Amino acid sequence: MIVTIDGPAGSGKSTISKMLAKELGATFLDTGAMYRAVTLAAIADDIDLADEDALFGVLESKQFEFNTHDNQMEVKINGIDATEGIRRPDITINVKYIAKAAKIRKKLVDMQRKFAKKHDKIVTEGRDQGTIAFPNADYKFFLIADVEERARRRHAEFTEKGLNIDLDVLEKDIRKRDESDTTRKNGPLIKAGGAIEIDSTKLDAEAVVKKILQHINP
Ligand code: C5P
Repeated sequence: MIVTIDGPAGSGKSTISKMLAKELGATFLDTGAMYRAVTLAAIADDIDLADEDALFGVLESKQFEFNTHDNQMEVKINGIDATEGIRRPDITINVKYIAKAAKIRKKLVDMQRKFAKKHDKIVTEGRDQGTIAFPNADYKFFLIADVEERARRRHAEFTEKGLNIDLDVLEKDIRKRDESDTTRKNGPLIKAGGAIEIDSTKLDAEAVVKKILQHINP
């Protein structure tokens, strides 16, 4: 069984996908972590982020491992743990260069499909899971929320980690990411055919999961 959850930054995809995977006894796949991992490796190697061939070289030459343990995705690059590193703010800002590189997207989508083959049930979240990676998924959802609310959620996450980042700055970053995610030529963020849209602006995570489960087990 494949369940896809796509949506913009801060729409609650990760939280909801993890909770849903637990409810369904499924494995969770965070595809954003894959784009982030390539970004981290490219920055560490001082690669020109505008050079798509060089970026693809990073993906080809290093060993990227994505494994789910206890519903958390663990990321390793050449055997070294990068689970926390991929969340750095400079990675979030620069991931757009990796996300628009066609050859990289193709290879990561292949890896996502291989991951799905290895597991009986998956809940996979990202931008193109219902459109490109798994157009024949059993269930597709598209999560949305107002940009102000999405910025507030990011702010709360950073505050919890002890980081004080201006709410306005976070809102601007989210708007910029929405712009690059929706306008890129390859794998843009759009609602997949057959996807059920859920607006989480006024709903907590439990309520969203409940709605999703009502569609899966009516
Ligand atoms: O979901 P997350 O914020 O970690 O994703 C980071 C970035 O990776 C997104 O802004 C998007 O540009 C890219 N991404 C993508 N396709 C996916 C998942 C993420 O292009 N399936």
